[in-house]
Amino acid sequence: MNDQAKSAARRMVQTQLLARNISDPAVLGVMEAIPRHLFIPEATIEQAYSDHALPTAGGQTISQPYIVARMTELLAVRPGQRVLEVGTGSGYQTAILARLGAHIVTIERSPELAGLAEAVLAEVCPGAAIQMVVADGTLGYPDKAPYDRILVTAAAPHIPKAHKHQLADPGRLVIPLGDRHSQTLTVIDRQGEKFAVADDIACRFVPLVGEDGWGE
Ligand code: SAH
Repeated sequence: MNDQAKSAARRMVQTQLLARNISDPAVLGVMEAIPRHLFIPEATIEQAYSDHALPTAGGQTISQPYIVARMTELLAVRPGQRVLEVGTGSGYQTAILARLGAHIVTIERSPELAGLAEAVLAEVCPGAAIQMVVADGTLGYPDKAPYDRILVTAAAPHIPKAHKHQLADPGRLVIPLGDRHSQTLTVIDRQGEKFAVADDIACRFVPLVGEDGWGE
């Protein structure tokens, strides 16, 4: 990263994350290290490290840094764990997970976004264990199940059945649940056939569109 991006990332960590009680040193470290501006369309690049979501291609969004940090902290990924990410979008969250040492399958329904994300990820995380899939992520990805962690980064009306089935035991799923306009970041911990559900912060994501999500 150049000096300007480095200091913007450092400021982002201090004013947006530490100030809001993100405390996991591994999460803070990767949020400072990943060049967020590379995942942002040229038109809004000077806002790359600002405290809000930004538009990506096709009316989708790259999440606000604080939301990415909070989701990552809640996911509590350890190196070598298998992670399923649903909603690759820009690939920024994918890069964060890869830098934490996760082995990732990431699913995106838009071929255009998947293509863009794949190119940036090859540059930012060369050699990382990332498998990109263009498909409906509400159905998960059975080929590589079970997953120690599942992260859904689009708003879901309910927990997709496939995500419960494909979660390892023990395992953790983090998903924004609610209606199309506002959601609650929700943490589901699996122990055997028990799924403990805990609410976290309010959030706002674009809809999870698919067979076990919202209609078009
Ligand atoms: N973590 C991403 C957030 C992207 S927004 C980032 O920070 O860039 C959510 C993404 O989910 C969008 O790119 C959208 O196309 C995708 N999406 C919506 N429904 C989906 C589905 N059923 N399967 C896979 N991706 C989906």
